[in-house]
Amino acid sequence: MTDGFHDECAVFGIYGHDDAVTMTVLGLHALQHRGQEATGIVSFDGGNFQSHRAAEMVGKAYGDPAVMAQLKGRVAIGHNRYSTTGETSMRNIQPLYADLAFGGFAIAHNGNLTNAMTLRKGLVQRGALFQSTSDTEVIVHLMATSSEKNPVDRMIDALKQVKGAYSLVASTGDKIIGVRDPHGVRPLVLGRLTNKQGRDSHILASESCAFDIIGAEFIRDIEPGELVVLDEKGLHSKRPFDKVAPRFCIFEYIYFARPDSVMEDKSVYEIRKNIGAELAQEAPCPQADIVVPVPDSGVPAAIGYAQACGIPFDLGIIRSHYIGRTFIQPTDSTRHLGVKMKHNANRALIAGKKVVLIDDSIVRGTTSRKIVEMIKQAGAAEVHMRISSPPSTHSCFYGIDTPDAEDLLAHRKTIEEIKEFIGADSLAYLSVDGLYRAVGAAKRNAALPQYCDACFTGDYAIERTDFEAQKTEAKITPIHECRKG
Ligand code: SF4
Repeated sequence: MTDGFHDECAVFGIYGHDDAVTMTVLGLHALQHRGQEATGIVSFDGGNFQSHRAAEMVGKAYGDPAVMAQLKGRVAIGHNRYSTTGETSMRNIQPLYADLAFGGFAIAHNGNLTNAMTLRKGLVQRGALFQSTSDTEVIVHLMATSSEKNPVDRMIDALKQVKGAYSLVASTGDKIIGVRDPHGVRPLVLGRLTNKQGRDSHILASESCAFDIIGAEFIRDIEPGELVVLDEKGLHSKRPFDKVAPRFCIFEYIYFARPDSVMEDKSVYEIRKNIGAELAQEAPCPQADIVVPVPDSGVPAAIGYAQACGIPFDLGIIRSHYIGRTFIQPTDSTRHLGVKMKHNANRALIAGKKVVLIDDSIVRGTTSRKIVEMIKQAGAAEVHMRISSPPSTHSCFYGIDTPDAEDLLAHRKTIEEIKEFIGADSLAYLSVDGLYRAVGAAKRNAALPQYCDACFTGDYAIERTDFEAQKTEAKITPIHECRKG
Protein backbone atom coordinates (compact mmCIF):
# COMPACT_ATOMS: atom_id res chain seq x y z
CA MET A 1 0.00 0.00 0.00
CA THR A 2 1.35 3.39 -0.87
CA ASP A 3 -0.66 5.78 1.18
CA GLY A 4 -3.19 6.03 3.92
CA PHE A 5 -4.64 3.08 5.76
CA HIS A 6 -2.58 2.03 8.72
CA ASP A 7 -2.41 -1.33 10.34
CA GLU A 8 -4.23 -1.70 13.59
CA CYS A 9 -2.71 -3.63 16.44
CA ALA A 10 -1.63 -7.15 17.25
CA VAL A 11 -2.42 -9.29 20.27
CA PHE A 12 -0.80 -12.48 21.49
CA GLY A 13 -1.35 -14.67 24.55
CA ILE A 14 0.04 -18.01 25.70
CA TYR A 15 -0.92 -20.10 28.70
CA GLY A 16 1.17 -22.77 30.38
CA HIS A 17 4.53 -22.76 28.60
CA ASP A 18 7.94 -22.70 30.29
CA ASP A 19 9.16 -20.15 27.74
CA ALA A 20 5.94 -18.17 27.60
CA VAL A 21 7.71 -14.80 27.46
CA THR A 22 10.12 -15.81 24.68
CA MET A 23 7.23 -17.27 22.70
CA THR A 24 5.34 -14.01 23.16
CA VAL A 25 8.29 -11.94 21.95
CA LEU A 26 8.63 -14.13 18.86
CA GLY A 27 4.89 -14.02 18.24
CA LEU A 28 4.89 -10.23 18.51
CA HIS A 29 7.85 -10.11 16.14
CA ALA A 30 5.86 -12.07 13.55
CA LEU A 31 2.98 -9.63 14.08
CA GLN A 32 5.12 -6.51 13.82
CA HIS A 33 3.39 -5.51 10.58
CA ARG A 34 0.18 -4.81 12.55
CA GLY A 35 1.75 -2.15 14.74
CA GLN A 36 5.22 -0.66 14.94
CA GLU A 37 4.71 2.25 17.29
CA ALA A 38 4.93 0.47 20.63
CA THR A 39 4.91 -2.96 22.21
CA GLY A 40 4.24 -4.46 25.63
CA ILE A 41 4.17 -7.77 27.50
CA VAL A 42 2.63 -8.69 30.85
CA SER A 43 3.72 -12.04 32.29
CA PHE A 44 2.71 -13.94 35.42
CA ASP A 45 5.10 -16.17 37.38
CA GLY A 46 2.56 -17.84 39.62
CA GLY A 47 2.74 -15.14 42.27
CA ASN A 48 3.36 -11.79 40.63
CA PHE A 49 2.78 -9.98 37.38
CA GLN A 50 5.69 -8.38 35.56
CA SER A 51 5.51 -6.06 32.60
CA HIS A 52 7.57 -4.21 30.08
CA ARG A 53 6.26 -1.57 27.71
CA ALA A 54 8.25 0.45 25.23
CA ALA A 55 7.63 2.83 22.35
CA GLU A 56 9.88 0.71 20.16
CA MET A 57 9.82 -2.13 17.67
CA VAL A 58 9.76 -5.64 19.13
CA GLY A 59 13.41 -6.47 18.41
CA LYS A 60 14.63 -3.41 20.23
CA ALA A 61 12.11 -3.50 23.07
CA TYR A 62 13.06 -7.01 24.20
CA GLY A 63 16.64 -7.15 22.93
CA ASP A 64 18.09 -6.31 26.33
CA PRO A 65 18.68 -9.50 28.42
CA ALA A 66 17.89 -7.51 31.56
CA VAL A 67 14.41 -6.78 30.23
CA MET A 68 13.85 -10.43 29.37
CA ALA A 69 15.15 -11.54 32.78
CA GLN A 70 12.51 -9.55 34.58
CA LEU A 71 9.66 -11.07 32.57
CA LYS A 72 8.97 -14.51 34.02
CA GLY A 73 6.42 -17.24 34.21
CA ARG A 74 4.34 -19.63 32.16
CA VAL A 75 1.59 -17.15 31.28
CA ALA A 76 2.06 -14.08 29.11
CA ILE A 77 0.11 -11.71 26.91
CA GLY A 78 1.52 -9.14 24.53
CA HIS A 79 0.52 -6.33 22.23
CA ASN A 80 1.92 -4.34 19.31
CA ARG A 81 0.42 -0.92 18.96
CA TYR A 82 -0.43 1.35 16.14
CA SER A 83 -2.54 4.07 17.70
CA THR A 84 -6.02 4.35 16.24
CA THR A 85 -7.59 6.08 19.22
CA GLY A 86 -5.85 7.77 22.09
CA GLU A 87 -2.67 9.73 21.81
CA THR A 88 0.73 8.14 21.51
CA SER A 89 2.39 7.96 24.93
CA MET A 90 3.69 5.47 27.45
CA ARG A 91 0.42 5.37 29.32
CA ASN A 92 -1.43 4.11 26.27
CA ILE A 93 0.95 1.24 25.55
CA GLN A 94 -0.76 -2.09 26.12
CA PRO A 95 -1.28 -4.49 27.78
CA LEU A 96 -2.97 -2.28 30.35
CA TYR A 97 -2.70 -3.57 33.91
CA ALA A 98 -4.94 -2.98 36.94
CA ASP A 99 -5.48 -4.49 40.38
CA LEU A 100 -9.16 -5.35 40.55
CA ALA A 101 -11.24 -6.88 43.34
CA PHE A 102 -10.37 -10.40 42.20
CA GLY A 103 -6.63 -9.65 41.75
CA GLY A 104 -4.29 -8.52 39.00
CA PHE A 105 -5.65 -8.12 35.50
CA ALA A 106 -3.94 -7.30 32.20
CA ILE A 107 -5.65 -6.67 28.87
CA ALA A 108 -4.57 -6.08 25.28
CA HIS A 109 -7.00 -5.10 22.56
CA ASN A 110 -7.10 -4.77 18.79
CA GLY A 111 -9.94 -2.73 17.35
CA ASN A 112 -11.99 0.28 18.27
CA LEU A 113 -14.90 0.70 20.67
CA THR A 114 -17.41 2.97 19.01
CA ASN A 115 -19.20 3.97 22.24
CA ALA A 116 -16.09 4.29 24.42
CA MET A 117 -16.43 8.02 24.99
CA THR A 118 -20.03 7.73 26.15
CA LEU A 119 -19.13 4.91 28.51
CA ARG A 120 -16.07 6.77 29.72
CA LYS A 121 -18.06 9.90 30.57
CA GLY A 122 -20.49 7.83 32.61
CA LEU A 123 -17.66 6.08 34.44
CA VAL A 124 -15.86 9.36 35.21
CA GLN A 125 -19.08 10.82 36.58
CA ARG A 126 -19.24 7.81 38.90
CA GLY A 127 -15.71 8.49 40.12
CA ALA A 128 -13.52 6.40 37.81
CA LEU A 129 -9.94 7.69 37.46
CA PHE A 130 -8.70 6.96 33.97
CA GLN A 131 -4.97 6.65 33.50
CA SER A 132 -4.83 6.42 29.72
CA THR A 133 -6.71 7.78 26.74
CA SER A 134 -7.04 4.29 25.27
CA ASP A 135 -10.56 2.97 24.76
CA THR A 136 -9.33 -0.35 26.16
CA GLU A 137 -9.31 1.13 29.65
CA VAL A 138 -13.09 1.50 29.47
CA ILE A 139 -13.31 -2.31 29.58
CA VAL A 140 -11.10 -2.37 32.69
CA HIS A 141 -13.32 0.15 34.52
CA LEU A 142 -16.50 -1.62 33.48
CA MET A 143 -15.03 -4.83 34.89
CA ALA A 144 -13.93 -3.06 38.09
CA THR A 145 -17.43 -1.77 38.72
CA SER A 146 -19.28 -4.93 37.68
CA SER A 147 -21.37 -6.66 40.34
CA GLU A 148 -20.40 -10.07 38.94
CA LYS A 149 -18.05 -12.14 41.08
CA ASN A 150 -15.54 -13.91 38.86
CA PRO A 151 -13.31 -12.29 36.21
CA VAL A 152 -14.88 -14.04 33.22
CA ASP A 153 -18.41 -12.98 34.22
CA ARG A 154 -17.16 -9.46 34.88
CA MET A 155 -15.63 -9.36 31.43
CA ILE A 156 -18.84 -10.60 29.82
CA ASP A 157 -20.77 -7.97 31.79
CA ALA A 158 -18.35 -5.28 30.58
CA LEU A 159 -18.34 -6.40 26.95
CA LYS A 160 -22.12 -6.50 26.82
CA GLN A 161 -22.00 -2.72 27.34
CA VAL A 162 -19.46 -1.90 24.66
CA LYS A 163 -20.04 -1.53 20.95
CA GLY A 164 -17.42 -1.77 18.29
CA ALA A 165 -14.83 -4.06 16.82
CA TYR A 166 -12.47 -5.85 19.15
CA SER A 167 -10.32 -8.89 19.46
CA LEU A 168 -8.73 -9.02 22.87
CA VAL A 169 -6.60 -11.14 25.13
CA ALA A 170 -6.56 -10.69 28.88
CA SER A 171 -4.72 -12.35 31.75
CA THR A 172 -5.75 -12.91 35.34
CA GLY A 173 -2.57 -14.86 35.98
CA ASP A 174 -4.34 -18.19 36.44
CA LYS A 175 -6.11 -17.90 33.12
CA ILE A 176 -6.03 -16.15 29.77
CA ILE A 177 -9.27 -14.90 28.27
CA GLY A 178 -9.67 -14.29 24.55
CA VAL A 179 -12.70 -12.63 22.96
CA ARG A 180 -13.80 -11.66 19.48
CA ASP A 181 -16.62 -9.15 19.08
CA PRO A 182 -20.01 -10.50 17.95
CA HIS A 183 -19.45 -9.39 14.34
CA GLY A 184 -15.91 -10.79 14.34
CA VAL A 185 -14.55 -7.71 12.57
CA ARG A 186 -10.97 -8.11 13.72
CA PRO A 187 -9.18 -11.47 13.54
CA LEU A 188 -8.17 -13.74 16.43
CA VAL A 189 -6.86 -17.27 15.98
CA LEU A 190 -6.20 -20.22 18.26
CA GLY A 191 -3.07 -22.37 18.20
CA ARG A 192 -1.37 -25.11 20.16
CA LEU A 193 2.27 -25.67 21.05
CA THR A 194 3.30 -29.08 22.31
CA ASN A 195 6.48 -29.28 24.40
CA LYS A 196 9.03 -32.12 24.54
CA GLN A 197 7.09 -33.78 27.36
CA GLY A 198 3.98 -33.85 25.18
CA ARG A 199 2.23 -31.14 27.17
CA ASP A 200 0.05 -28.69 25.21
CA SER A 201 -0.03 -24.93 25.61
CA HIS A 202 -2.81 -22.96 23.98
CA ILE A 203 -2.07 -19.71 22.20
CA LEU A 204 -4.15 -16.81 20.93
CA ALA A 205 -2.87 -14.44 18.27
CA SER A 206 -4.10 -11.90 15.76
CA GLU A 207 -2.77 -13.99 12.88
CA SER A 208 -1.56 -17.51 12.28
CA CYS A 209 1.89 -16.32 11.14
CA ALA A 210 2.60 -15.84 14.87
CA PHE A 211 2.23 -19.62 15.33
CA ASP A 212 4.59 -20.52 12.50
CA ILE A 213 7.53 -18.68 14.03
CA ILE A 214 7.32 -20.69 17.27
CA GLY A 215 6.48 -24.02 15.66
CA ALA A 216 2.91 -24.00 16.95
CA GLU A 217 -0.03 -25.58 15.20
CA PHE A 218 -2.92 -23.47 13.92
CA ILE A 219 -6.17 -24.89 15.29
CA ARG A 220 -8.91 -22.50 14.18
CA ASP A 221 -10.25 -18.97 14.16
CA ILE A 222 -11.94 -17.82 17.34
CA GLU A 223 -15.54 -17.47 16.16
CA PRO A 224 -17.31 -14.11 16.09
CA GLY A 225 -18.83 -13.55 19.54
CA GLU A 226 -16.84 -16.41 21.09
CA LEU A 227 -15.06 -16.08 24.43
CA VAL A 228 -12.39 -18.63 25.27
CA VAL A 229 -10.67 -19.27 28.56
CA LEU A 230 -7.24 -20.93 28.66
CA ASP A 231 -6.31 -22.42 32.05
CA GLU A 232 -4.80 -25.49 33.71
CA LYS A 233 -7.73 -27.60 32.56
CA GLY A 234 -7.31 -26.63 28.92
CA LEU A 235 -9.59 -24.62 26.67
CA HIS A 236 -13.16 -23.57 27.47
CA SER A 237 -15.43 -21.81 25.00
CA LYS A 238 -18.50 -19.66 25.65
CA ARG A 239 -20.95 -17.73 23.44
CA PRO A 240 -22.19 -15.07 25.84
CA PHE A 241 -23.42 -12.49 23.34
CA ASP A 242 -26.53 -12.21 21.18
CA LYS A 243 -25.78 -13.70 17.81
CA VAL A 244 -25.43 -11.25 14.92
CA ALA A 245 -24.32 -11.70 11.32
CA PRO A 246 -20.53 -11.93 11.02
CA ARG A 247 -18.73 -9.04 9.33
CA PHE A 248 -15.05 -9.92 9.14
CA CYS A 249 -12.94 -7.05 7.78
CA ILE A 250 -12.47 -7.78 4.07
CA PHE A 251 -9.50 -5.40 4.01
CA GLU A 252 -7.51 -7.96 6.01
CA TYR A 253 -7.37 -10.00 2.81
CA ILE A 254 -6.39 -7.03 0.66
CA TYR A 255 -3.67 -5.53 2.79
CA PHE A 256 -3.54 -5.83 6.58
CA ALA A 257 -2.79 -9.50 7.13
CA ARG A 258 0.54 -11.07 6.33
CA PRO A 259 0.26 -13.12 3.13
CA ASP A 260 1.50 -16.25 4.91
CA SER A 261 -1.38 -16.10 7.39
CA VAL A 262 -4.54 -18.17 7.20
CA MET A 263 -7.87 -16.51 7.96
CA GLU A 264 -11.28 -18.20 7.85
CA ASP A 265 -9.37 -21.30 6.67
CA LYS A 266 -8.18 -19.39 3.61
CA SER A 267 -4.62 -18.55 2.63
CA VAL A 268 -4.27 -14.78 2.50
CA TYR A 269 -1.66 -15.18 -0.26
CA GLU A 270 -4.02 -17.23 -2.42
CA ILE A 271 -6.84 -14.73 -1.89
CA ARG A 272 -4.55 -11.91 -2.98
CA LYS A 273 -3.66 -13.82 -6.13
CA ASN A 274 -7.39 -14.39 -6.73
CA ILE A 275 -7.91 -10.67 -6.33
CA GLY A 276 -5.28 -10.03 -9.01
CA ALA A 277 -6.91 -12.56 -11.33
CA GLU A 278 -10.33 -10.93 -10.85
CA LEU A 279 -8.78 -7.55 -11.57
CA ALA A 280 -7.25 -8.91 -14.78
CA GLN A 281 -10.70 -10.15 -15.83
CA GLU A 282 -12.40 -6.86 -15.04
CA ALA A 283 -9.67 -4.47 -16.19
CA PRO A 284 -7.33 -6.13 -18.68
CA CYS A 285 -4.51 -4.20 -20.31
CA PRO A 286 -3.60 -6.24 -23.41
CA GLN A 287 -1.18 -3.66 -24.78
CA ALA A 288 1.10 -3.82 -21.70
CA ASP A 289 4.61 -5.32 -21.73
CA ILE A 290 5.04 -6.02 -18.01
CA VAL A 291 3.08 -6.23 -14.77
CA VAL A 292 4.86 -4.43 -11.93
CA PRO A 293 3.77 -4.54 -8.27
CA VAL A 294 4.16 -1.71 -5.82
CA PRO A 295 6.12 -3.69 -3.23
CA ASP A 296 5.56 -5.44 -0.99
CA SER A 297 1.85 -5.54 -0.48
CA GLY A 298 0.97 -5.37 -4.19
CA VAL A 299 3.08 -8.42 -5.09
CA PRO A 300 0.62 -11.35 -4.73
CA ALA A 301 -2.15 -9.48 -6.58
CA ALA A 302 0.31 -8.56 -9.35
CA ILE A 303 1.33 -12.23 -9.68
CA GLY A 304 -2.36 -13.18 -9.93
CA TYR A 305 -2.96 -10.43 -12.51
CA ALA A 306 0.07 -11.43 -14.60
CA GLN A 307 -0.79 -15.14 -14.53
CA ALA A 308 -4.40 -14.46 -15.50
CA CYS A 309 -3.58 -12.24 -18.47
CA GLY A 310 -0.33 -13.82 -19.60
CA ILE A 311 1.78 -10.66 -19.34
CA PRO A 312 5.22 -11.10 -17.71
CA PHE A 313 5.51 -10.18 -14.02
CA ASP A 314 8.63 -8.23 -13.13
CA LEU A 315 10.03 -6.25 -10.23
CA GLY A 316 10.02 -2.79 -11.73
CA ILE A 317 10.16 -1.13 -8.33
CA ILE A 318 12.78 -2.09 -5.81
CA ARG A 319 12.02 -1.53 -2.16
CA SER A 320 14.61 -0.75 0.45
CA HIS A 321 14.39 -3.32 3.23
CA TYR A 322 16.17 -1.15 5.71
CA ILE A 323 13.13 0.79 6.79
CA GLY A 324 9.82 -0.59 8.01
CA ARG A 325 6.51 -0.19 6.29
CA THR A 326 5.91 3.26 4.85
CA PHE A 327 3.75 4.40 7.72
CA ILE A 328 5.86 3.55 10.69
CA GLN A 329 5.08 6.88 12.29
CA PRO A 330 1.62 8.39 12.04
CA THR A 331 2.70 11.89 11.03
CA ASP A 332 2.50 13.52 7.64
CA SER A 333 6.16 14.48 7.56
CA THR A 334 7.48 10.97 8.20
CA ARG A 335 4.94 9.48 5.80
CA HIS A 336 6.30 11.51 2.91
CA LEU A 337 9.86 10.85 3.96
CA GLY A 338 9.10 7.14 4.13
CA VAL A 339 7.80 7.03 0.57
CA LYS A 340 10.94 8.63 -0.83
CA MET A 341 13.19 6.38 1.19
CA LYS A 342 11.35 3.23 0.34
CA HIS A 343 10.95 2.81 -3.42
CA ASN A 344 13.17 3.11 -6.47
CA ALA A 345 12.30 2.39 -10.09
CA ASN A 346 14.23 -0.42 -11.78
CA ARG A 347 15.20 1.78 -14.71
CA ALA A 348 16.91 -0.92 -16.80
CA LEU A 349 13.72 -2.98 -16.78
CA ILE A 350 11.14 -0.26 -17.20
CA ALA A 351 12.62 2.00 -19.88
CA GLY A 352 10.50 1.97 -23.03
CA LYS A 353 7.93 -0.45 -21.59
CA LYS A 354 4.16 -0.17 -21.22
CA VAL A 355 3.70 -0.95 -17.55
CA VAL A 356 0.69 -2.25 -15.61
CA LEU A 357 1.29 -1.02 -12.09
CA ILE A 358 -0.55 -2.93 -9.35
CA ASP A 359 -1.19 -1.47 -5.92
CA ASP A 360 -3.73 -2.41 -3.28
CA SER A 361 -5.35 0.97 -2.75
CA ILE A 362 -5.22 4.69 -3.32
CA VAL A 363 -6.06 6.67 -0.22
CA ARG A 364 -4.95 10.30 -0.46
CA GLY A 365 -3.31 9.71 -3.81
CA THR A 366 -0.15 11.69 -3.10
CA THR A 367 2.08 8.63 -2.95
CA SER A 368 0.49 6.99 -5.99
CA ARG A 369 1.20 10.16 -7.93
CA LYS A 370 4.86 10.07 -6.89
CA ILE A 371 5.21 6.43 -7.86
CA VAL A 372 3.63 6.94 -11.28
CA GLU A 373 5.92 9.91 -11.79
CA MET A 374 8.92 7.83 -10.73
CA ILE A 375 8.04 5.07 -13.23
CA LYS A 376 7.62 7.61 -16.01
CA GLN A 377 10.89 9.31 -15.15
CA ALA A 378 12.53 5.89 -15.41
CA GLY A 379 11.46 5.86 -19.07
CA ALA A 380 8.19 3.90 -19.08
CA ALA A 381 6.25 4.45 -22.30
CA GLU A 382 2.88 4.11 -20.53
CA VAL A 383 1.72 3.52 -16.94
CA HIS A 384 -1.61 1.77 -16.43
CA MET A 385 -2.59 1.73 -12.75
CA ARG A 386 -4.70 -1.18 -11.50
CA ILE A 387 -5.92 -1.20 -7.90
CA SER A 388 -6.65 -4.50 -6.18
CA SER A 389 -9.52 -3.10 -4.12
CA PRO A 390 -12.61 -1.01 -4.81
CA PRO A 391 -12.25 2.79 -4.41
CA SER A 392 -11.73 3.73 -0.75
CA THR A 393 -14.60 6.16 -0.23
CA HIS A 394 -15.31 5.98 3.52
CA SER A 395 -13.38 6.03 6.78
CA CYS A 396 -12.99 2.99 8.99
CA PHE A 397 -14.35 3.22 12.53
CA TYR A 398 -13.40 -0.28 13.54
CA GLY A 399 -9.74 -0.05 14.43
CA ILE A 400 -8.03 0.93 11.18
CA ASP A 401 -6.52 4.38 11.12
CA THR A 402 -7.90 6.08 8.04
CA PRO A 403 -8.09 9.70 7.01
CA ASP A 404 -11.40 11.51 7.31
CA ALA A 405 -13.66 10.74 4.37
CA GLU A 406 -13.04 14.19 2.82
CA ASP A 407 -9.34 13.36 2.60
CA LEU A 408 -9.97 10.13 0.73
CA LEU A 409 -9.37 10.83 -2.94
CA ALA A 410 -12.15 8.51 -4.09
CA HIS A 411 -14.63 10.20 -1.77
CA ARG A 412 -14.45 13.44 -3.72
CA LYS A 413 -13.13 12.52 -7.18
CA THR A 414 -14.29 10.28 -10.00
CA ILE A 415 -12.03 7.53 -11.27
CA GLU A 416 -11.24 9.67 -14.31
CA GLU A 417 -10.28 12.59 -12.03
CA ILE A 418 -8.12 10.30 -9.90
CA LYS A 419 -6.38 9.05 -13.04
CA GLU A 420 -5.59 12.65 -13.97
CA PHE A 421 -4.42 13.43 -10.42
CA ILE A 422 -1.97 10.54 -10.24
CA GLY A 423 -0.83 11.04 -13.84
CA ALA A 424 -1.53 7.50 -15.04
CA ASP A 425 -2.44 6.65 -18.65
CA SER A 426 -5.33 4.55 -17.39
CA LEU A 427 -6.75 3.58 -14.01
CA ALA A 428 -9.11 0.84 -12.90
CA TYR A 429 -10.19 -0.57 -9.54
CA LEU A 430 -11.50 -4.00 -8.61
CA SER A 431 -15.28 -4.02 -8.19
CA VAL A 432 -16.91 -4.87 -4.86
CA ASP A 433 -18.42 -8.03 -6.38
CA GLY A 434 -15.02 -8.93 -7.85
CA LEU A 435 -13.54 -8.67 -4.38
CA TYR A 436 -16.25 -10.92 -2.97
CA ARG A 437 -15.64 -13.46 -5.73
CA ALA A 438 -11.92 -13.41 -4.90
CA VAL A 439 -12.60 -14.28 -1.25
CA GLY A 440 -14.85 -17.14 -2.28
CA ALA A 441 -18.36 -15.65 -2.23
CA ALA A 442 -20.47 -15.77 -5.39
CA LYS A 443 -21.34 -12.10 -4.93
CA ARG A 444 -22.00 -9.54 -2.23
CA ASN A 445 -25.31 -9.99 -0.46
CA ALA A 446 -26.52 -6.38 -0.46
CA ALA A 447 -29.19 -7.06 2.18
CA LEU A 448 -26.74 -8.70 4.58
CA PRO A 449 -23.12 -8.36 3.42
CA GLN A 450 -20.95 -11.30 4.35
CA TYR A 451 -18.01 -9.03 5.27
CA CYS A 452 -17.37 -5.58 6.61
CA ASP A 453 -16.69 -3.56 3.48
CA ALA A 454 -17.74 -0.16 4.85
CA CYS A 455 -14.65 1.66 3.61
CA PHE A 456 -15.77 0.81 0.06
CA THR A 457 -19.54 0.93 0.44
CA GLY A 458 -20.35 3.11 3.46
CA ASP A 459 -22.40 0.21 4.82
CA TYR A 460 -21.43 0.33 8.51
CA ALA A 461 -22.62 -2.71 10.43
CA ILE A 462 -21.83 -1.40 13.89
CA GLU A 463 -23.30 1.76 15.34
CA ARG A 464 -20.86 4.69 15.57
CA THR A 465 -22.39 6.37 18.58
CA ASP A 466 -19.57 8.64 19.62
CA PHE A 467 -16.70 8.26 17.25
CA GLU A 468 -16.67 11.91 16.26
CA ALA A 469 -16.65 12.91 19.93
CA GLN A 470 -13.76 10.51 20.52
CA LYS A 471 -11.77 12.20 17.79
CA THR A 472 -12.32 15.76 18.93
CA GLU A 473 -12.82 15.87 22.67
CA ALA A 474 -10.02 16.98 24.98
CA LYS A 475 -7.97 14.20 26.43
CA ILE A 476 -8.27 13.42 30.11
CA THR A 477 -5.10 14.22 32.02
CA PRO A 478 -3.34 11.07 33.16
CA ILE A 479 -2.70 10.41 36.83
CA HIS A 480 0.77 9.12 36.11
CA GLU A 481 2.80 7.33 33.52
CA CYS A 482 4.63 4.16 34.34
CA ARG A 483 6.87 1.77 32.53
CA LYS A 484 6.28 -1.23 34.71
CA GLY A 485 2.91 -2.70 35.58
FE1 SF4 B 1 -12.02 -3.31 7.43
FE2 SF4 B 1 -12.85 -1.28 5.89
FE3 SF4 B 1 -14.53 -2.48 7.62
FE4 SF4 B 1 -12.54 -0.97 8.51
S1 SF4 B 1 -14.31 -0.28 7.29
S2 SF4 B 1 -13.14 -2.95 9.32
S3 SF4 B 1 -10.90 -1.41 7.02
S4 SF4 B 1 -13.53 -3.38 5.78
